[in-house]
Amino acid sequence: MTLLTHPSPGTTSSTVCPFCNGGRTHEISFNVTNTGTEILYICHRASCGKSGRYFVDGDVPEDLFPKPRWKPQVRTPSKVELQQLIDKYHLTPDELSRLRPQMCVDTKQKRCWYPVFGPHGSTHGGVARSLEPGVRPKVLTYLDDTSYHLGSWYLHTSGVERIALVEDQVSAARLSGYVTTIALMGAHLHHDLLMFLARHRVKHLFIALDSDAFDKAVKMSQSISPYFPKTTVVPLDVDIKNDTRAPTWLIR
Ligand SMILES: [Zn+2]
Repeated sequence: MTLLTHPSPGTTSSTVCPFCNGGRTHEISFNVTNTGTEILYICHRASCGKSGRYFVDGDVPEDLFPKPRWKPQVRTPSKVELQQLIDKYHLTPDELSRLRPQMCVDTKQKRCWYPVFGPHGSTHGGVARSLEPGVRPKVLTYLDDTSYHLGSWYLHTSGVERIALVEDQVSAARLSGYVTTIALMGAHLHHDLLMFLARHRVKHLFIALDSDAFDKAVKMSQSISPYFPKTTVVPLDVDIKNDTRAPTWLIR
């Protein structure tokens, strides 16, 4: 079994790249061409650029076989590690208990582990985030089930009539002190999550992406506003994870 779709002879098909997964927006950047004798493949994302070829009747290159997926082992953070995390984001005990951070034990670099919580509280894997500057990739996401696209949920006692969307889990753990918040784990709202929110009759959706993603937030709002009575794009001057002030935009 290979990772590639096989177009019929003489045709090209485009898909999400099996090597880079199309980045965080899951761009359709991977072209596979069947010349009749050869399969040619190339990813057009500059940061990936994976390409190659093999004969239709020949052996499939080894790197096209699916690799066993990384499943991290986690442990409880030490007092010092926990304090580092608290100091970095000025986390309150409540915010910390909602984030429920752990430490990865089997990664090359030191990484925190933030569990991904589904809308009903069950966990669906997590995000391994480096806290040291310059480490790439900064974020490794592991989901138990690759078909899970509902983000990481942090429920507030006020329920789900009002919901805020943010990029990362630290921001979500903070903002959920005021409103039910979902971390998209990126700046992309997956169709499954959109449909889930629309079905659950969310009345007011706040889009509070990081300050450098304001344009994305506006675009997102334009495409999803038909599904909700009210959609608000929140312009942030400081990202929520770095901002300990109460969200006045939510309260007023
Ligand atoms: Zn790629």
